[in-house]
Amino acid sequence: MATSQAPVEPPKRRRIGVLTSGGDAPGMNGAVRAVVRMAIHCGCEAYAVHEGYEGLVQGGSLIRQMHWEDVRGWLSRGGTLIGSARSASFRERPGRLQAAKNMVLRGIDALVVCGGDGSLTGADVFRSEWPGLLRELVDTGELTEAQIKPYQVLNIVGLVGSIDNDMSSTDATIGCYSSLTRIVDAIDDIFDTASSHQRGFVIEVMGRHCGWLALMSAISTGADWVFIPEMPPHDGWEDEMCATITKNRKERGKRRTIVIVAEGAQDLHLNKISSDNIKDILSKRLGLDTRVTILGHTQRGGPACAYDRWLSTLQGVEAVKAVLDTTPTSPSPVITIRENKIERTPLMEAVKLTKKVSSLIESKEFSKAMDLRDAEFREYHHAYINTATPDHPKMMLPDKKKMRIAIIHVGAPAGGMNPATRAAVAYCLTRGHTPIAIHNGFPGLCRHHADQPISSVREVQWLESDNWVNVGGSEIGTNRGLPAENMETTASCFEKYKFDALFIVGGFEAFTAASQLRQARGQYPAFKIPIMVLPATISNNVPGTEYSLGSDTCLNTLVTFCDTIRQSASSTRRRVFVVETQGGQSGYIATTAGLAVGAVASYIPEEGIDLKMLLRDITFLRHNFSHDKGANRAGKIILRNECASKTYTTQFVADMIAEEAKGRFESRAAVPGHFQQGGNPSPMDRVRALRMAIKCMQHFETFAGKSPDEIAADELSAGVIGVKGSEVIISPLGGSNGLEATETDWKRRRPKTEFWINLQEVVNILSGRPTNGDGE
Ligand code: ATP
Repeated sequence: MATSQAPVEPPKRRRIGVLTSGGDAPGMNGAVRAVVRMAIHCGCEAYAVHEGYEGLVQGGSLIRQMHWEDVRGWLSRGGTLIGSARSASFRERPGRLQAAKNMVLRGIDALVVCGGDGSLTGADVFRSEWPGLLRELVDTGELTEAQIKPYQVLNIVGLVGSIDNDMSSTDATIGCYSSLTRIVDAIDDIFDTASSHQRGFVIEVMGRHCGWLALMSAISTGADWVFIPEMPPHDGWEDEMCATITKNRKERGKRRTIVIVAEGAQDLHLNKISSDNIKDILSKRLGLDTRVTILGHTQRGGPACAYDRWLSTLQGVEAVKAVLDTTPTSPSPVITIRENKIERTPLMEAVKLTKKVSSLIESKEFSKAMDLRDAEFREYHHAYINTATPDHPKMMLPDKKKMRIAIIHVGAPAGGMNPATRAAVAYCLTRGHTPIAIHNGFPGLCRHHADQPISSVREVQWLESDNWVNVGGSEIGTNRGLPAENMETTASCFEKYKFDALFIVGGFEAFTAASQLRQARGQYPAFKIPIMVLPATISNNVPGTEYSLGSDTCLNTLVTFCDTIRQSASSTRRRVFVVETQGGQSGYIATTAGLAVGAVASYIPEEGIDLKMLLRDITFLRHNFSHDKGANRAGKIILRNECASKTYTTQFVADMIAEEAKGRFESRAAVPGHFQQGGNPSPMDRVRALRMAIKCMQHFETFAGKSPDEIAADELSAGVIGVKGSEVIISPLGGSNGLEATETDWKRRRPKTEFWINLQEVVNILSGRPTNGDGE
């Protein structure tokens, strides 16, 4: 009976609860950390509800106030530290009644729920019932009118935490890229055995209703065939699959065969397609020594990848903002992401769409189900098909539309350059184009012309490029040299080899090279061909895009580096690591790595470093270490971009911190250097490489049959493909609105406006770093 409860004083500060529910997913801890810290930053109190909805129903010690220090180090932890459960009692109204009572008694009237569609449905049911639940609690004497009065409205905000990426309205769910990373790492390892023994492997991955993990892992590893629930194969798929695999092995010489199957894969008649089915077909029909690997729960665990840390942090921050913005009449939002843009979407609309996909699959309306998945998903599926089955007669273009497409890498190597080249080559072969690799950049092209005995311009074969699917660096060789260094020879090479299009993969130099060629078109008609730049650089400083291939690989490498050195400072050591990042004049990598590792600060060229800032940060560190307790104690990270200051070098900053700490803590400089360029490209860099490379090839095809002058007159004939906000677009280099004139800071080699600059503020908010005053 409520009358036995002490009357509840409305809290002076707003209280926001956060819970994780459904299957655990890497990144959930990052979301909880961000919600807790952002809530405190905004003057609210944060409460963690342990064990999902069960904690809400049981209350007591399962609902605990969280303080700033409580979430220290959570970004790098896998699973969910506040626990998750599938709560049967919350599914029933009496359970929700108890939950409502517990919330009122704890003064919580806003809830951030991180989970899958089930958890978000539960949240919405709870919100819609809330007034009725409160009324019932008063009517039955559990609570008084005075107790419920301050809590008339329940605010709910959803965060999608799920490894399956099965929620409509968002490109990615928290956890899906970490899980994809786990899968892709496992398949990369299987490659070696598969190739050594010329074996076939059938790999089963999670995804009962959603084939995202299966499709993306197939793209990332160049699998021969993939089965996903929402796009069942045609009848007779067994023959088609065997024919493709036979062709790949016998005609093209592929030594390994990988088939990926989602656990919910089925045929057009909804009969399950199991990994054992596929194995039997390959063994019996092709006599292929085939093994099945079911990856199981390894796909769920482990620390979150860089993207999930970044995503969960920004979405957690946005969730708190949404709680504070939501009015009694506005629908509950779920925080989503489109390409690069964090957005809010009505929660129930997203849930409804998601459920509709499942019901369309059940009623065999597969095409409609695919339509309700994000457009990006269908695009990826097409892209995979286009590259997995080269020289398919249906895809072949008539001779007059076939082109000779040159591919060149310019600038420093970056993860994703090889997968992009592989995708371009495979697409070209599918369509009947001739893919031509130029080795070692523009100097390589000119050297070849001088009749050196080095074959630096040549047609690429399918098998060779197929092996580049997971290889880092640049297999065709990259070079910083620009065409302007030898424009005459460059132009005569273009003529000699009859290039119809040029695909440049690289960073700011690639952008500069394309710009030089475009501007030289008047003098050299050989350049009147379509020219596209696919940005690939760890610095992510190419105008026209918010994302460059290689930047995700670099971030993951930095995250691993920082996690490792941080752990090296055991609980008895108080140590600050000043980690120097690459990035040239762009602080992108330092800032996003700062978000992903929970750095104390990121020092970037855009802001510079000054003495006042250093002293303030040292005071802050002193204060910070004095609040660290036992298990929470670990190394702290400051990221310093290599060009942040000429005077305050990484070693200087580390030495100064050590000196001024006066023995209270230590400081070390750490320089990962070229390690940041990464080993194998990350799955995100691989899948985006495929999608963007194919879009570039398709863009080239729109120029087939046009005269050189017509091509030159079209501004889009020289452009950059990139992510801008929520879209992937091609931006022209030239013209009054082109990138060269409007968006490029040529001196500093970066875009004039850097989309990520405001993230500095988030790094500071979440570390609690003061940006003025004396740091106390
Ligand atoms: P995953 O994607 O990992 O399955 P999920 O959030 O979809 O995650 P569910 O098991 O469907 O996982 O839901 C988690 C919890 O959410 C349930 O145990 C239950 O407590 C609550 N829940 C789900 N659906 C409802 C509902 N319709 N009404 C009330 N509560 C619900």
